Amino acid sequence: MKTVLITGASRGIGRACALRFGAAGYRVLVHFHTQKEKAEKVCEEIKGQGGAAIPVCCDLKNTATIRDMMAQIEKSTGGVDVLVNNAGIAQCKMLCDTTEEDYDTLFGTNVKGMIALTKLVLPHMVHQKSGHIVNLSSIWGITGASCEVLYSASKAAVIGFTKALSKELGPSGIFVNCVAPGVIHTDMNATLSEETLDALKEETPLGTLGTPDDVADAVFYLCHQNRFTTGQILSPNGGMVV
Ligand code: NAD
Repeated sequence: MKTVLITGASRGIGRACALRFGAAGYRVLVHFHTQKEKAEKVCEEIKGQGGAAIPVCCDLKNTATIRDMMAQIEKSTGGVDVLVNNAGIAQCKMLCDTTEEDYDTLFGTNVKGMIALTKLVLPHMVHQKSGHIVNLSSIWGITGASCEVLYSASKAAVIGFTKALSKELGPSGIFVNCVAPGVIHTDMNATLSEETLDALKEETPLGTLGTPDDVADAVFYLCHQNRFTTGQILSPNGGMVV
């Protein structure tokens, strides 16, 4: 049985990915930060469908907790075959209003945490000469978004990381790709007004917002490319960015 670790899997896109991999027969490590009960509920849902799931916890801003989590995972499962670096945070502020703390929190979670976790997952993949890594960026990491400069920069870093790492790991049989979604209806966008959401729909050629399942489809697809697709950015966005 293959093991997949999905960060930020207690809700939203991560939860949809967890359910998708669970239904496909993976052992799913449902990572959470603070929402233990929600993560346990996702595990119960997966087990209810005959799958296998274990909740695992760390704060991606804190490398020591990432190390502890990975030590536990190695003990209980042997290692991770598929890593989905999904967890992330967003922030809406003009650059001139952002603080050093905002920078540390955003980059600490979206970039430094992702890199630290990936480094710890890699030795097992390199040893077995196979593995898949999918990193979650955003259309704003491709185009940039006003009032989300730090977020856009962190998501552009995810794209750079994906491309460079795919080159480094190709010879080891490890595939590294990226999903850069458009606007997806999750808690991340909970503060947007109905008016703003309607305007975003109108801007989208397909006339709708995305769902967590739309993103899970893209993640699952990339994790099953075993020959010639690596270092790529797949962007489910309804045609907003082409
Ligand atoms: P969400 O807010 O519902 O989920 C984010 C997850 O990240 C949560 O489970 C949260 O616990 C976890 N997380 C946050 N800080 C953490 C930390 N310090 N340590 C560990 N975990 C932490 O958001 P979502 O919409 O499901 O987003 C998932 C990913 O998709 C994010 O990387 C986001 O940037 C990206 N994305 C989302 C959208 C969108 O419109 N929703 C669009 C493009 C990209």
